[in-house]
Amino acid sequence: MRSIDPIYIGKDATAVLLNYLKNDRQSRFALVADKNTYRALGDRVERALKSAGYDVKTVMLDGDHVHTDEHQITHTLIHAPRGDCTFIAVGSGTVTDITRFVSFHTNRPFIGMPTAPSVDGFTSIGAPTVLAGVKKTVYCQPPIAIFADIDVLSSAPHDLVGAGYGDMIGKMTSVADWTLGSILWNEPFDPAIAERSKKAVAEVLKHTDAIGEQKTDGIRALMDGLIESGFLMLEFGASRPASGTEHHISHYWEMMYIREGRATQLHGAQVAVGMVIAARQYARLRKVSREEMLERLEGAQLPLRSAEIAAIQQGYPSMSAEIIRDNLPFLDMTENDFDMLKRRIVERWEDIQAVAAQVADAETIQEWLRRAGAPSTATELGLSEAELSAGIRYGHFLRERFTVMKLSRILGLALE
Ligand SMILES: [Zn+2]
Repeated sequence: MRSIDPIYIGKDATAVLLNYLKNDRQSRFALVADKNTYRALGDRVERALKSAGYDVKTVMLDGDHVHTDEHQITHTLIHAPRGDCTFIAVGSGTVTDITRFVSFHTNRPFIGMPTAPSVDGFTSIGAPTVLAGVKKTVYCQPPIAIFADIDVLSSAPHDLVGAGYGDMIGKMTSVADWTLGSILWNEPFDPAIAERSKKAVAEVLKHTDAIGEQKTDGIRALMDGLIESGFLMLEFGASRPASGTEHHISHYWEMMYIREGRATQLHGAQVAVGMVIAARQYARLRKVSREEMLERLEGAQLPLRSAEIAAIQQGYPSMSAEIIRDNLPFLDMTENDFDMLKRRIVERWEDIQAVAAQVADAETIQEWLRRAGAPSTATELGLSEAELSAGIRYGHFLRERFTVMKLSRILGLALE
């Protein structure tokens, strides 16, 4: 289902774009960039298009710290040309999402020109958008083509590269959680997609040092992995193959920053730290013997509905109704459902342990993250102990998905 064609990652992406446009009837373009990405590539693309005789209007996003929100969306709507045109997003995740949003909601296509291997969302349909202070993924469209200049990607700011690495290797815990969801919670699962995701992570891991040093082959491997991960989500029709505990914790922190009016951190940087937390939980699970599991389940109680709702209201003060709705399958569990789930844990214990064995140790992951230039501790994200614990305590409420956190709570394992 590769409707994004071509996806070019290589030298001289601007020339390749011009060549592609020769076969396209489009002659009017809205180029969207922020100050940094305009300097890195946008300026060059704009000049090349103009000298080839195209009508180009550049929309420069407003300010130094650009977010996908009402302000930038309105700004882009006002400054983009009206009528027929193709949008070109020159930038990393945020510029792409703003362009994805505006082009889709004005019925026009867009081309992606990523400037940093920072996130796996370049091929996405959805745009994570902050609307009225709450982050939501809004249904939009994927780009019609992607042209990524390898030299531009390789000169991207180091923290963006580290974030892309975190978002990418975080799939290790996403896929483990997804597999638990299929074993214990009947979540739709696609083994071929899960395998491809694991392969993509393994490939990127091989290039850890080259990514940290921003060598061309490392950056290419990272970008290939991020694009593949994006496709796996498109093919599966949901983010499940690429989002588990590590993403829930990242989303929780991001919503906290937005609610408190603080500067947000890079998505992949938060995912990196969330992944370390998930990996610690898998390590705890690996230590539980069959006998201990049986003992723990003997004493396990169905969580009290009212206590769960109170926890959600505490963790998500501005959007608890929505989170409660997402959690109904868990909140509405009867004693009988809970007994069945416990029986399932007993029956599938070996499979559960096989999933846990696929996740690397937290210390190994931290070492990889350091080598690639990504944060590996909450302190590096500027989070306090209390904020770290809140992410661990409340993150798992975010989606109707079974994760290692849900399993840990049933087994009464420490969450920390
Ligand atoms: Zn992500």
